[in-house]
Amino acid sequence: MSTIHRTDSTEWNGRARPLVVVVGAGIVGIAQAWAAARRGCRVVVLERDARARGASIRNFGMVWPIGQSNGPAYRAALRSRALWQELIEQSGVWGSRCGSLHLAYREDELAVLSEFARLAPALGYDCQLLTPEAVQELSPAARRPGLLGALSSRTEMCVDPREVIQNAPTWLAETYDVQFRYGAKVQSLYNGRVTVADGEHILADQVIVAAGADLRDFYPELYRHAGFQRCKLQMLRTAPQPAGWRLGPMLAGGLTLRHYAAFGICRTLSALKERIEAETPELNRFGIHVMASQNGLGEVILGDSHEYHDDASPFDKAEIDELMLRELRKMIELPDWTIRERWHGVYVKAPDTIQLDAQPEPGVRVAIASGGAGMTMSFGLADEYWEREMGPPLSPTPSAAHSPQHIANGAAFDGAATS
Ligand SMILES: Cc1cc2nc3c(=O)[nH]c(=O)nc-3n(C[C@H](O)[C@H](O)[C@H](O)COP(=O)(O)OP(=O)(O)OC[C@H]3O[C@@H](n4cnc5c(N)ncnc54)[C@H](O)[C@@H]3O)c2cc1C
Repeated sequence: MSTIHRTDSTEWNGRARPLVVVVGAGIVGIAQAWAAARRGCRVVVLERDARARGASIRNFGMVWPIGQSNGPAYRAALRSRALWQELIEQSGVWGSRCGSLHLAYREDELAVLSEFARLAPALGYDCQLLTPEAVQELSPAARRPGLLGALSSRTEMCVDPREVIQNAPTWLAETYDVQFRYGAKVQSLYNGRVTVADGEHILADQVIVAAGADLRDFYPELYRHAGFQRCKLQMLRTAPQPAGWRLGPMLAGGLTLRHYAAFGICRTLSALKERIEAETPELNRFGIHVMASQNGLGEVILGDSHEYHDDASPFDKAEIDELMLRELRKMIELPDWTIRERWHGVYVKAPDTIQLDAQPEPGVRVAIASGGAGMTMSFGLADEYWEREMGPPLSPTPSAAHSPQHIANGAAFDGAATS
């Protein structure tokens, strides 16, 4: 089997072009590949499966700055959002700047939302409290009976994760000559030397491990030391809604306020949490809070639950789906509730970390999204990292004449599966 060497005379804009190998073609791998490639790196992405099919195709597609705590996390989320806009415009994948509504049906929910609306604008959040009448003008889906008000935020975007994971690689390949190799399981890493399951070796200037929950296979000690835990989430998808009906802003409710760090600034939150535990402990048992987004096909994506267990059952619980639908029906009205698909996803979460950035050995960096915000954070965090390493993006984009296809399609990539 062959060895690909990092030493290469290719230059772009008078700069030598390092060879970056990214392990994993989920959203973190895509974000890292894009950020490195637009700074002139030659990038090869190695994905174990025929397509990435981990957390990155199983989520709501919510780009959700409003949930991030103020300061660096919120700023990185807004940076991500700007990059998502760029990707949507340039690649043609579907996306919607639909914003979000957190709906209140109980006084304690309204109290948290009012407090947040009072405090958050001074911290940079673009949000406001709406009356029920104003909510109705924005959202055909918000259930009117019992509605007390809502927090409206304009910064949230919706993408279709399945489409992004399918089509963004093609765009990156065409625009930046990033090479995606599927069915290429990385077997081992050692000081920048990558060994693929078929026996091939690649000597990279930098390896980025974006293997999501499978970080444990590479660096079990790092995984344990960071305090990662696996979390299993159940999700549902409706049939396409009839006659072009649109959800409008993505929807969340009072249960969600206990889930996202942003609302931790509210003193009224503890009373809400206590009431939920006293009234509906079954929701806490399964970590249920409910949200809804809608993709470009008109399907509404509903969820979710959170079961923390390193050995989670492969089987989904009907009880969880029923509880989620019960809570969703309290706040959302859909023309068609037919559930077409049910699935679960798994992510890893470490305490107080939005992304694990570590260098476990020379030439290797680990980038693991922690928790349920990888779609929201990955582009911003990848861009921050590569800007620190290599400065702002270069333009124009590298032309095919200077592409890593030269490496990828050459004899050196014996039998490489290119895409
Ligand atoms: C149900 C659910 C809903 C969510 N909703 C949202 C949301 O709406 N908004 C949001 O911001 N976040 C959301 N998240 C979180 C988000 O989906 C994750 O943070 C993100 O997808 C993680 O991306 P990743 O690239 O790190 O992992 P993954 O998508 O799991 O990708 C890792 C890839 O690495 C590959 N790999 C592993 N080992 C190897 C190897 N040895 N060799 C080669 N390849 C390998 C895997 O095959 C996989 O494709 C949700 C998560 C879930 C599960």
